[in-house]
Amino acid sequence: MSLVLSLDFGGTKLGAGVVDVDAGVVLERRRAETPPGAGARGSIEQMLTMARSLLAERPAAGVGISFGGPISADQRRVVTSHHVAGWDDLPLVEVVADALGLPVVMDNDANVQTLGEWRYGAGRGTRSFVFVNVGTGIGGGIVLDGKLFRGAHGMAGEIGHTVVDPDGPVCTCGKRGCVESLAAGPYVAAAARERLIELLLPLVVRLARSYRVEGLETADLVQEDRRQRHIGRIAVPEHGRERSPTKHVE
Ligand SMILES: [Zn+2]
Repeated sequence: MSLVLSLDFGGTKLGAGVVDVDAGVVLERRRAETPPGAGARGSIEQMLTMARSLLAERPAAGVGISFGGPISADQRRVVTSHHVAGWDDLPLVEVVADALGLPVVMDNDANVQTLGEWRYGAGRGTRSFVFVNVGTGIGGGIVLDGKLFRGAHGMAGEIGHTVVDPDGPVCTCGKRGCVESLAAGPYVAAAARERLIELLLPLVVRLARSYRVEGLETADLVQEDRRQRHIGRIAVPEHGRERSPTKHVE
């Protein structure tokens, strides 16, 4: 039985587990929120506490790190984190190796997920394989001819940051119109919300006009300029109160 300690540094969560790599089974796991405002050092301290407690129960032969952000080409340093401060150019492999006294390897979360799915999941038994993860962002990884394909800067599988609409919304990476900024979870939710409002507002207006509510003198719910997407004025004189005329829903 070969045991490996697996550490996952995410944007909002930290995960640690001991894995039997022969069987592909997670034997023990711990989870914690990324300590708010504590920066990279706080996250590392929290992770090392979980790691030590796991190692005390199940001694592992080595450590694998998954990092939720870009890492250096030699896979030893974090380049940066888009979510937590203090990660810029941080030699995470060295820090963890020194703290735990074990050999450590690291890759970004998309590549690690790709390898996991290739070895134990949907990609098992294939020679070439593309992994796509759609969540808060869109990550991915590519296996070509039996090997993880990293590309010149280790970002070959990052299909989420392929620009498909140069005039599209600004992405977390700073570019416009990436696949991620158009198709990831938050964008789909925002687009659905907008569509729902477009569909529902005319219905609400029709209802307000067709039902004469006693004492309700004006029910001008929608201002003429729909493009501003402001919900208009609702005056309810019998109660002597007025609701604020603008609620921005964009
Ligand atoms: Zn992007």
